[in-house]
Amino acid sequence: MARKVCVIPGDGIGPEVTRATQRVLEAAGAEIDWIPLAAGAAAAETYGDLLPQPTIDAIEEHRLALKGPLTTPIGKGFTSLNVALRKRFELYAAVRPVRSLPGIKTPFENVEIVVIRENTEGLYSGLEHQVVPGVIESLKITTRSGCERISRFAFEYARQSNRRKVTLFHKANIMKLSDGLFMESARKMHQEVGGDIEYEEMIIDAGCMQIVKDPTRFDVLLLENYNGDVVSDLCAGLVGGLGVTPGANIGADCAIFEAVHGSAPDIAGQDKANPLALMMSAVMMLNHIGQRPVAERIKGAYNAVLSAANPEILTADVGGHGGTQRFTDAILEQL
Ligand code: NAD
Repeated sequence: MARKVCVIPGDGIGPEVTRATQRVLEAAGAEIDWIPLAAGAAAAETYGDLLPQPTIDAIEEHRLALKGPLTTPIGKGFTSLNVALRKRFELYAAVRPVRSLPGIKTPFENVEIVVIRENTEGLYSGLEHQVVPGVIESLKITTRSGCERISRFAFEYARQSNRRKVTLFHKANIMKLSDGLFMESARKMHQEVGGDIEYEEMIIDAGCMQIVKDPTRFDVLLLENYNGDVVSDLCAGLVGGLGVTPGANIGADCAIFEAVHGSAPDIAGQDKANPLALMMSAVMMLNHIGQRPVAERIKGAYNAVLSAANPEILTADVGGHGGTQRFTDAILEQL
């Protein structure tokens, strides 16, 4: 029976990359019954609400979504809808695999890292206020239960996906209490559920230097929310950028799959966006719901298109001059 999946095209390049991804999943034979939902600018026009109740209700019911990016105004305006969704559905683990791809040249080879980011706490609490004029306080919230559940997730993920090592990036030399608690929780979970997975800790600044010196020494990275956000994009840069980096937001019984990139307003509506990051996120979703053969078929098709490294077909972010449609058509031809 087809699995019902909520789909939110989102803002900016979202509708283009979402349509491309749906075409590929349909052609590959994914058994999915799409439930289209509005959020972001499109929802504001139709419902007068950026995150309408019918969208929340549908995710509540079906517990699975594929989502395009949603714009968040910078320095003013409403709070992030992405963060609101992650908190509303307790999607506490962001899983962001980065791997070197065939046909995409970067200064790095054989990168195979999975970033696991805590998705609900830390500096994303949204708790900011002006203490007195000219002095602002932003609250970083860290709880033992939040640290333990993301640490448990990271070790269980590492074991289930045959990984060898989890590296915790922290700043516990400065944030002794908050990052100290995160470190203490990771150590505890390593003891309890880590099995024979190796565990190491690194101060984040030194860790970032190590990543760009030799990314192959890393396997699974475990980070709190804000650090995870920054390091995700750093790792995306190792393998070709945001156009090729997928992601999943996972909770106990609900998951939303989305690319790491945002709404890219600079290229929206111009047939320039690379749809691969969302297609790869959809492949993660297919694996998550047990449609592995379809996932493998799609992966084979895009690997073949990338391997050919035809600049007429690849999008500009990875060195080509093709567009969203041309690249998608090439994958469809492979399928
Ligand atoms: P961005 O990821 O949208 O864009 C950064 C750069 O990468 C831009 O030059 C863009 O053109 C390029 N890029 C991104 N995705 C691409 C793709 N698929 N193909 C080719 N090039 C691509 O980040 P930003 O500009 O910092 O943010 C824009 C908006 O997106 C902001 O409102 C931000 O809050 C939002 N955002 C949303 C999410 C999400 O929905 N999960 C994530 C990050 C940012």
